[in-house]
Amino acid sequence: MPLPSFRSSRSKVRRRRSHHALKAVIIDKCKVCSADVLAHHACPKCHNYNGRTAKGSVDAVARKLKVTKVAAPKAEKVAKVAKAPKAAAAPKAKKAAKKAE
Ligand SMILES: [Zn+2]
Repeated sequence: MPLPSFRSSRSKVRRRRSHHALKAVIIDKCKVCSADVLAHHACPKCHNYNGRTAKGSVDAVARKLKVTKVAAPKAEKVAKVAKAPKAAAAPKAKKAAKKAE
């Protein structure tokens, strides 16, 4: 088995290994279904990417097989948005009730 002609210095070894550290994976939230998504990747749940549905998605497969439409994830978001104002309005109502007392 061949051997290196010269021993690598401590400095040389450390310079080489300075690039060996693992980088943290950047995890985003899907804008449609708020699932964890890798950066620059389509959502694994709803296959949405940059406002479009990626090829080979659940919807595309359903269309090909002419199956009834899969429940749209947008409906969930609308439901969440509809709930949010009520929650925000509730504390104000409590404050108003306190002022009245
Ligand atoms: Zn999604």
